[in-house]
Amino acid sequence: MTEKKLTPKQLEKYKNLLLKERDEAQKMISTIDEMQKKGSKDSSGDLSSYSIHQADLGTDTINAEKNVYHLNRCIEKVKNINQALHRIHDETYGLCEMCGAVIPSKRLNVLPFAKQCIDCKSKSEEKQRRNR
Ligand SMILES: [Zn+2]
Repeated sequence: MTEKKLTPKQLEKYKNLLLKERDEAQKMISTIDEMQKKGSKDSSGDLSSYSIHQADLGTDTINAEKNVYHLNRCIEKVKNINQALHRIHDETYGLCEMCGAVIPSKRLNVLPFAKQCIDCKSKSEEKQRRNR
């Protein structure tokens, strides 16, 4: 099962896809960032009106934790996308970083910043599980 190397046309397609995804992730980061800032401003203000708006403070804590989780995921994504764009430039994009095999386009369509083929990915995940 040898997959062909990506054509310049395909590379162009993934590049646009990556740029679009990076744009969305960056928008998400600034949205969460603003929410965090707004949240801390509110809590230092009038607490009586604050608790009415927020229903209870418990959910607010959970939301803040969720935001941090999302924020970290988005930052991680932007990092991965930047690396993928770099690989397009280096002409190593679409190749597995572990075994050098061509990553099937089916996988790249779902995960354009994938750096490992499915085999290596599941192998490294299995290793991580065992090390835990
Ligand atoms: Zn591989």
